[in-house]
Amino acid sequence: MKLYGQARIAGAVLGGMSQTTTRVVVPAGEGRAVRVPAGRRVRVIDLDGGQVGDLFAFAAEDVREHLSASHTRAAVGRLFPRIGEAFVTNRRRPILTLVADTSPGRHDMLIAACDPARYAELGAPPGHASCAVNLERALAELGLAVETTPQPVNVFMDVPVGPDGELGSLPSPSRPGDSITFEAAMDCVVALSACPQDITGINAGGLSPLALEVL
Ligand SMILES: [Zn+2]
Repeated sequence: MKLYGQARIAGAVLGGMSQTTTRVVVPAGEGRAVRVPAGRRVRVIDLDGGQVGDLFAFAAEDVREHLSASHTRAAVGRLFPRIGEAFVTNRRRPILTLVADTSPGRHDMLIAACDPARYAELGAPPGHASCAVNLERALAELGLAVETTPQPVNVFMDVPVGPDGELGSLPSPSRPGDSITFEAAMDCVVALSACPQDITGINAGGLSPLALEVL
């Protein structure tokens, strides 16, 4: 087991049962994945502020079932769930429920994960880090692999939709310590990439780390 970047925080006693919080720091531009049992919560914290995170969730029993942005939009009838609403999978089953959000509430579920082709388009040299490759590597650490990159939940990413349907792309407005918290509706694997996008300006003030906590 890799211990670097992971810490077990003093357990809280809940209803007579001890529950330990695990915190994984996701270094700037990298990705990490954690297993989250049904009923546990998972929190993404923007440690320094202004950093977009690409979040993915997969059913633990079969990673071909994953959180699907398009199925979620259809389920909630909105561009992004409200507190208490669930993100669903490509098999239309709830996988994560949004339970808390201390950020300004600007999150995106329209834009694909950055990948090597995107950086080639932008003129970056080959080998630029990307959320798609970060996902592959993070899952590989758990012995898992997926055939395609699902469309992520882009936390702390501000993509305003204009009245004519035009999409904006603004610097992340989240502040240091802002967080968004989900509750697992099934046993799942949650992966997070601290987006390495350093060309378009979505990560305000440069790349910074995120934290992923299982509560
Ligand atoms: Zn990215």
